[in-house]
Amino acid sequence: MWIPYGSTHYNTATGKARKRVKCEWCETAYQYDLEREVTGTSKNLLFLDGQGASDRAADRAQEKLESAIRYGVDPVPCPSCGKYQEDMFDAARNDYHLALYFGSIGSLILTFVFLVIGVNITEGRKIEMMPLWTKASMLTCLLLAGFAYLLRKWLTARMDPNDEPLEQRQAIATERCIPITDDLLEDADDVWE
Ligand SMILES: [Zn+2]
Repeated sequence: MWIPYGSTHYNTATGKARKRVKCEWCETAYQYDLEREVTGTSKNLLFLDGQGASDRAADRAQEKLESAIRYGVDPVPCPSCGKYQEDMFDAARNDYHLALYFGSIGSLILTFVFLVIGVNITEGRKIEMMPLWTKASMLTCLLLAGFAYLLRKWLTARMDPNDEPLEQRQAIATERCIPITDDLLEDADDVWE
């Protein structure tokens, strides 16, 4: 039986910050805008404190947003030499081998599907009565999911985002980089890390 004991409050916060970069390869200063959207949650136990839970969700969303903006990095290559900075490599690799990524998610979903089929066949009797083929299918799908995940991790760690075609990297730089005004450039040494 399901007894309601409270509710969950969600609060979404979005924010934007201008990130300044000094290229580690050619020392060109450049900047781009980083945008993030995060969700904060809070439980309202026994429905006693709706306003408090709502406020806490908003506070959590704000905290998460601040750290996402402060530590977040987007893969934006240097507009001058076209290279990604080293701290952008992980973010750039997120787009690699997506087939393996979706393959591992799909296999995980299939694992769950076979579990549901098995439970339905046994009709609530002991789990050991589940047909062998559902157990075997679950195990196979789970192993496939793990294998695809690890293979992707292994493959992407070996890829250098700066090996991507230069035109492709320059196109991203043109799209994302925001021109720097001369007065900003003058104190670039103070502003750019
Ligand atoms: Zn550069």
